[in-house]
Amino acid sequence: MKQLVILSGKGGTGKTTVASALIRLSKTKAYADCDVDAPNLHLLNHQKDKPEVNDFYGLKKARINPDKCIGCGLCVQHCAFNAIESGDVYKVNETICEGCELCVAVCPVDAIEMHDFVSGKTITYQNDHVFATAELSIGAGNTGLLVTEVKNNMKNASSEDTEWAILDGSPGIGCPVIASMSGVDRVLIVTEPSVFAIHDMERIIETADHFGVKTDICINKADIHPEMTEKIKTFAQDKGLECLGEIPYDDNVIHAQNQGKSIIDYPSPAKDAVTQVYQRLAIRMQNG
Ligand code: SF4
Ligand code: SF4
Repeated sequence: MKQLVILSGKGGTGKTTVASALIRLSKTKAYADCDVDAPNLHLLNHQKDKPEVNDFYGLKKARINPDKCIGCGLCVQHCAFNAIESGDVYKVNETICEGCELCVAVCPVDAIEMHDFVSGKTITYQNDHVFATAELSIGAGNTGLLVTEVKNNMKNASSEDTEWAILDGSPGIGCPVIASMSGVDRVLIVTEPSVFAIHDMERIIETADHFGVKTDICINKADIHPEMTEKIKTFAQDKGLECLGEIPYDDNVIHAQNQGKSIIDYPSPAKDAVTQVYQRLAIRMQNG
């Protein structure tokens, strides 16, 4: 199964709108929402059946046994994340603890133990297609680990004849994006004509190059700043990337979203443009 991940470099470019449309147009049998901090692909791709839901355990967290603690304060002094509160009793703030285990090493009376911590939940729908998603708990870290778990769930639940999977990647450029991109075959960057666009794209392209992943772009709301759109196209060309299409600003996108629908449900200029992006992408996907 080959995988396409859709990335944006930052939020608000219309990444999920485009991902949702490509999922519908391609009729792919497997897709996933890797934006585990704020998943919303399910709002545009409704599921009828009940999903399988499982707790996700990230890194372990420290816990202090008050019966053993002698109040020496060594753990507080050594915790680089200020995760240990000292008051009447010494206590670990689990939302801040990074699980480094240094406090366990310095405690003179073995009063601290690491324990499993539920950082979120994975949600997998499986019927005529597979949709894997997840929700990270508020304040929980380990986003990259959860993204990897979502991708594994999608892959494991998919049938062998699934040719392509589409992943709605995480915004930004940190650990979850690297986890989104790891092992995929192609990246589509959804950008928009803003002053940050080229900078954001550069960082994704660097990461994609590192992983040896082929990259294309499309420009959303391309008509709101034509000069910047031209700059982006020139930049992409210089980098050897193809611009697969320019999607115009279109109020129908907002109407569709407000009704929990995909843009392809609305005859509109944006639908025509994203369909053209899909057609070009499909040829590239078929050719590997
Ligand atoms: S495990 Fe590390 S981060 Fe967590 S409380 Fe101990 S020293 Fe601090
Ligand atoms: S290092 Fe151990 S004994 Fe000292 S305050 Fe921390 S938990 Fe208590």
